[in-house]
Amino acid sequence: MSEHSDNIISIYRKYVLQTYANDLLFVRGKGSSLWDADGREYLDFTMGISVCNLGHCHPAVTKAIRQQAAKLVHISNLYINELQPVLAQKLVSNSFGEGAAFFCNSGAEANEGMIKLARKWGSDKGRFEIITMDDSFHGRTLATLAATGRAKYRKGFEPDTPGFSHVPFNNLQALEEKISDRTCAVMLEPVQGEGGIIPADAEYLKAVRALCDRKGVLLLFDEVQCGMGRTGTLFAWQAYGVQPDAFSLAKALGNGYPIGAFVIREGLRGVLTAGTHASTFGGTPLACAAACAVLDTIESKKLLERSNKMSRYFFRKLRALQKKYSAIRELRGKGLMIGIAMEGDVKEYLKRAREKGLLVISAGENVIRILPPLTVSRKEIDRAVDIIDQSVGGS
Ligand code: PLP
Repeated sequence: MSEHSDNIISIYRKYVLQTYANDLLFVRGKGSSLWDADGREYLDFTMGISVCNLGHCHPAVTKAIRQQAAKLVHISNLYINELQPVLAQKLVSNSFGEGAAFFCNSGAEANEGMIKLARKWGSDKGRFEIITMDDSFHGRTLATLAATGRAKYRKGFEPDTPGFSHVPFNNLQALEEKISDRTCAVMLEPVQGEGGIIPADAEYLKAVRALCDRKGVLLLFDEVQCGMGRTGTLFAWQAYGVQPDAFSLAKALGNGYPIGAFVIREGLRGVLTAGTHASTFGGTPLACAAACAVLDTIESKKLLERSNKMSRYFFRKLRALQKKYSAIRELRGKGLMIGIAMEGDVKEYLKRAREKGLLVISAGENVIRILPPLTVSRKEIDRAVDIIDQSVGGS
């Protein structure tokens, strides 16, 4: 590593609170590639954990940010900006048809907003409890931590925010037994990300919708990781044909420019009214310009069709690899949200892949998580599969 990189990393260690275990410094990105300070290129199949779904520094997003930054950056929600309504209309017309969006800055904040929506909706009915899934991940704020279905993230931050309970994912009976007359909502990721790339079973999700309708509780989908084309449809729930009452977005909505949102169906419009929820930076002109460019590009470049083709190609190649290695237990996922479930811990595989120039990450302990951009090419997939082959094979 160069003296320049060493120097920056030592300042980072000293002055940035060390809550992340990391050691690679990157200075530039384009498409599927990242470059370190020494000019070494890496194939990035993490995309900032499902954030840069159009690839790094997509020209349409860069142009939109540049132009908007020169025009108007922020005015607060005390005033109306030109782009927030445009973005909201795009999100609503691509999902419920009729409804509304609230804008914020991150996935945790989007989920907090949905949690508040459900609590407010249930408040005059005596309903306040939210049921979420084991192994889910919903964020790091105190309420979203309580919603998160893995105790390890909550350890040391107790007492847990009250009003949350967890049931096994893809288990209808467990959910049915847990719902009570205090329940206001069920919240889940249609495809679990951090928990190990686990898609909801189609029949299960349909049955959850019917159960929520029968019991009179809201169904909330966390699409922070699986949304925005990642799984082959704009929103993961669309492939299931199961509509939630509200869903959250963040990560890829701005392709790296921070923006989060939750979208509600029309019937919930009256729940959060003036003064009941807010976010200073929510839906700034700059953030909305980035997100509008993302949605326009997904549509104009037909990225859903393209990514579905690439997904089929990727899975075909991975199935061939699975035949070769008994250590590969299962291939999971949808679209370009791909998990390779291994026999044991995947740390060593990730390390080997990185040494060979491929960035992939874990989901849970035993799953290699692969999140290429929707713009990925066959050639890049070939290269990644070669490296995964060598990494699993130990060469
Ligand atoms: N929800 C899901 C499904 C996520 O994967 C994440 C982050 O990984 C979050 C919520 C939290 O998002 P953020 O880190 O933007 O707060």
